[in-house]
Amino acid sequence: MNNFADKKPHAVLIPFPAQGHINPLIKLAKLLHLRGFYITFVNTEYNHKRLLKSKGPKAFDGFADFSFETIPDGLTSVDGDVSQDITLLCKSIKENFLPSFRELLARLHDSATVGLVPPVTCLVSDSSMSFTIQAAEELSLPIVFFSPTSAFTFLSSLHFHTLFDKGLIPLKDESYLTNGYLDTKLECIPGMQNFRLKDLPDFIWTANPNDFLIEFTIEAARMAHHASAIIFNTSTELESDVINVLSTMFPCVYAIGPLSSLLYQSPQNQLASLSTNLWKEDTKCLGWLESKEPGSVVYVNFGSMTVMTAEKLLEFAWGIANSKQPFLWIIRPDLVIGGSVVLSSEFVNEISDRGLIAGWCPQEQVLNHPSIGGFLTHCGWNSTTESICAGVPMLCWPLFVDQPANCRYICNTWEIGIKIDNNVKREEVEKLVNELMVGENGKKMRQKIIEMKKKAVEDTKPGVVFRHERDFLRRAFIVPQI
Ligand code: UDP
Repeated sequence: MNNFADKKPHAVLIPFPAQGHINPLIKLAKLLHLRGFYITFVNTEYNHKRLLKSKGPKAFDGFADFSFETIPDGLTSVDGDVSQDITLLCKSIKENFLPSFRELLARLHDSATVGLVPPVTCLVSDSSMSFTIQAAEELSLPIVFFSPTSAFTFLSSLHFHTLFDKGLIPLKDESYLTNGYLDTKLECIPGMQNFRLKDLPDFIWTANPNDFLIEFTIEAARMAHHASAIIFNTSTELESDVINVLSTMFPCVYAIGPLSSLLYQSPQNQLASLSTNLWKEDTKCLGWLESKEPGSVVYVNFGSMTVMTAEKLLEFAWGIANSKQPFLWIIRPDLVIGGSVVLSSEFVNEISDRGLIAGWCPQEQVLNHPSIGGFLTHCGWNSTTESICAGVPMLCWPLFVDQPANCRYICNTWEIGIKIDNNVKREEVEKLVNELMVGENGKKMRQKIIEMKKKAVEDTKPGVVFRHERDFLRRAFIVPQI
């Protein structure tokens, strides 16, 4: 039996079950652990099995005061690859997760009674897992919402209703998709003035307020008012207008990012090496990068959810190859719709040792490798902030959910990236890759993002991230300063 006489505060953290949500929450978990919290991190059984498969059966054992628990995701194997179908996943979260989460909290309570773990003192929930509010209220526990997306994306979901009320959506008919209407600026909504309708998730353009995903998102935004605090993986440097607006809507808003797991690497930190990749990492690419000139390699990665047609993949492939720049391209096994990737021998001969293709990589390590000079990205919020923390300018190919808004920030607000047309063509890819890597524009963007990197590193180094620590820990987690 452990001795928890010192009564560490015990935080139970639960992410939305997808890669882009698990990664930033584990960073917050590591930070809280460093500040003296006991951590329980809750994954779905399905995802935890994938983690064990990719990292090895013992990879998550033996960390002091940090344990993993699982709950079922309510889906069966006949539902297909559950991690890639957001609607199915959200339906199951709404229908199935609360009872399992309650049971888990009861088990933790029993373990605490016999001294195996400290009593649970607070919950930290992904802001889209809003059923957790009910569990917290039943047990009178404080609950903090964590938003793994930008503060803008969170704010826009709070305003889905406003958009319907003002008649801006749904679009009147299909012609509105192409007649310039989507360029309408959202000037009437504080904090959203610099964005257009086309920067919002495309599922809202034609939806009505009763559509499942709209209801799910609106419900999560509504429940945020019941949380004792909301934490964002962003900074006031990146999103000051939006953070200011949110601070007038909620009593406790904290921008503590952008969190980079590489900041907390030290031999003393036993959790430094803990990573939560659902796909098996190919680390050989790090060795390959060693053989390349500083700043010379384009890194290409479209994240964990994006899928594309074989035609689009070929446009990217030939555009990148024709640019003649060295590249590292991560092609997930499930990236191409309806089948596996087949790249011709002509292509393979053309790229010879100039290009390397792998299935998944340790992205933050790759982005921070001195050989990387540019990032062709889908603009997921993690990829965006990880690129900023590494000082690497971007080529943007956003597709859905929050990616268009992140791209707007990158290309227009911060001017650290260039957008590729949705209907990607090899000639454009070739031209823009060269502009990014060796053009004047690329040079300017690189200077800007290196300045942003310096600021991000300053803002998030250990000891600074909880800048208002007393206030943060007291008000958000309702624990005395530790
Ligand atoms: N990632 C990684 N290796 C890869 C691809 C992605 O480690 O080969 C990580 C990446 O560092 C980021 C997350 O997976 O933390 C992807 O999140 P993001 O928000 O960028 O995109 P999403 O996958 O949610 O679309």
